[in-house]
Amino acid sequence: MCAPLPTGMIDCMGSSAWDAVTNEVFWLGDGVAGLPAGLAGERYLCRSCGQALILKGTKPDAKVLPYFSHPGDKGCAHPELEAQIDADTEVVIRFRDMIRAIPGFSATVESLGENPKDPSGLPPVIIACHGETTVAIERPGSSLPALMCCGAVSRRFASIMAERSMCGSCAGTRISSASSVS
Ligand SMILES: [Zn+2]
Repeated sequence: MCAPLPTGMIDCMGSSAWDAVTNEVFWLGDGVAGLPAGLAGERYLCRSCGQALILKGTKPDAKVLPYFSHPGDKGCAHPELEAQIDADTEVVIRFRDMIRAIPGFSATVESLGENPKDPSGLPPVIIACHGETTVAIERPGSSLPALMCCGAVSRRFASIMAERSMCGSCAGTRISSASSVS
């Protein structure tokens, strides 16, 4: 099922996917340079239903912006969740870019602890650094059941702590978590 857009177009287009090669969420707005188009060996996975996606619209003469499509243009089995995940991820990406614009700050998005075969439905976490301080900023989706959301956040927080404590250059880093960034 695909949701109709105000323009009358059919919205079967995803803006993000799980990248099985980098083991991270990929956001199309960050650019597709160097990424293989098509099914690409089932490299791109839907973050809502887990199905392998097709990367389209990457040719220089394409009349559309790049997008992810489910096989057969059938759309996602859970289109509302797919749209919600993309909307939440866009908020996170925009906030990452705002942090990057502040002098002295760096920011990346990561999906530590995510299992693409059992997607949490969470957008990536922002890891913002300033000097020796690192802050992990969560933006849980508003439509997720509270308990599921809290469990997923807790799992990821544990993954961040484990990952960061193994990194010598981040020794002494203080990590805290905020929620509901909008
Ligand atoms: Zn899907």
